[in-house]
Amino acid sequence: MKKVAVIGGGASGLMAALSASELYDTVIFEKNERVGRKLMQTGNGRCNLTNDDITDLHYFGNSFVNGAFSRFSKDDTLRFMMDLGLMAKREYGGRYYAYSGQAGSVVDALRFAATKKAIDIRTGVRVTGIAKHGDVFTVKTSDTEEAFDFVIVCCGGPAAEKLGGTYDGIDILRSFGHSINDPKPALVPLTTDNRYTRMLKGVRVQGKASLKSKSRGVIRDAEGDILFTDYGLSGPAIMDVSRFVDIKEDPYVSLDHMPEISEEELISRLERMKDIRDSAGDLFLGLIHNKLSIVMAKYCGIEPSLPSDELTDKDIRKLARAVKGMSFSVKGTTGFANAQTSSGGASTNGFDSLTLESRIVKGLFAAGEVLDVDGECGGFNLQWAWSSGYVAGRCGK
Ligand SMILES: Cc1cc2nc3c(=O)[nH]c(=O)nc-3n(C[C@H](O)[C@H](O)[C@H](O)COP(=O)(O)OP(=O)(O)OC[C@H]3O[C@@H](n4cnc5c(N)ncnc54)[C@H](O)[C@@H]3O)c2cc1C
Repeated sequence: MKKVAVIGGGASGLMAALSASELYDTVIFEKNERVGRKLMQTGNGRCNLTNDDITDLHYFGNSFVNGAFSRFSKDDTLRFMMDLGLMAKREYGGRYYAYSGQAGSVVDALRFAATKKAIDIRTGVRVTGIAKHGDVFTVKTSDTEEAFDFVIVCCGGPAAEKLGGTYDGIDILRSFGHSINDPKPALVPLTTDNRYTRMLKGVRVQGKASLKSKSRGVIRDAEGDILFTDYGLSGPAIMDVSRFVDIKEDPYVSLDHMPEISEEELISRLERMKDIRDSAGDLFLGLIHNKLSIVMAKYCGIEPSLPSDELTDKDIRKLARAVKGMSFSVKGTTGFANAQTSSGGASTNGFDSLTLESRIVKGLFAAGEVLDVDGECGGFNLQWAWSSGYVAGRCGK
């Protein structure tokens, strides 16, 4: 039987190994003491494993992803997981989570399946290099060298170093002549002017975040949860726009706390609220988060204790404008350490989209985040890991 080395025991590596084990002797090399460490933390510990709307529109770059999705779709993923005894629950935004509410159960089910299929899982073993002579790959670790017929690089990217993020996979593919697009943190919290975010630390709201700059106007919009922190802004809507931050453009984030309502509508609503509320600080009570209501008054330079019937028309317009566009200048991102994924990686031009085999080295495959594919928040990155892992695991079949 031919032998396959899967480098990395994360989401794509576990899937690649399960897929490969149908046809080949399969070994997983994982540098952490356990497989699936990052997977354990996904979806706030609940694992948002896929989404109803898996199309290339939710991924950046090009239509490369469609090749793997055509061979292993979202439905295939849900069926595959079900066969491992894992049910999924559909939630807001078409997101599917582990029914158990525990990402750990996804890791365990994959790990149990791998053991049942006699996959040789070697944890605590870092691959330091790979060479190819003739048809044979030599996989090198700090103290061994072993021959394989196929290699699947599933090492992920540099995001979340504490959970296993590295440049190793990128370096391995570069050593075989693959071109690399510089990785950058994506799906990452933003550090901003924090005068007001600090006052709201821990408050989570729903709204629309728009990344803007004076020269370009709106760069990117996203709706969803927004979390205020002592250093700036986080939450899925912020993470989704983070990829587009270019500090040279002096970007800022504008938050619309009531995207369904126009500014004019809000002004007339606030005019009515003036009569039924006591002060500027509680004017928005019942409309937006209580704490945000007080901070909104401060943001507009209005004392929250000011009696509401003393608010002028100008004040009301100012408050309405702030609710529809509270702005924070962006200083940067919180970096790879806090990023959920990375943009960049091995250029997809070097791989066949239907098999994920290298166009440079026969028998070499790659899957997951090591390739230059990244998606939005919502289960899109894991679906890429599952689909690409499954396809790469077929080793060209
Ligand atoms: C906190 C957090 C939450 C997230 N939540 C979600 C979510 O809910 N939904 C979603 O779709 N995506 C989510 N993501 C993104 C998702 O986890 C990744 O896109 C996905 O794990 C990528 O899979 P991968 O197999 O390519 O890489 P990884 O899962 O990172 O696996 C790579 C593995 O390779 C190992 N490795 C690296 N180098 C070597 C080496 N030289 N030798 C041996 N082993 C090596 C690493 O230790 C690691 O275990 C989240 C990410 C983070 C950090």
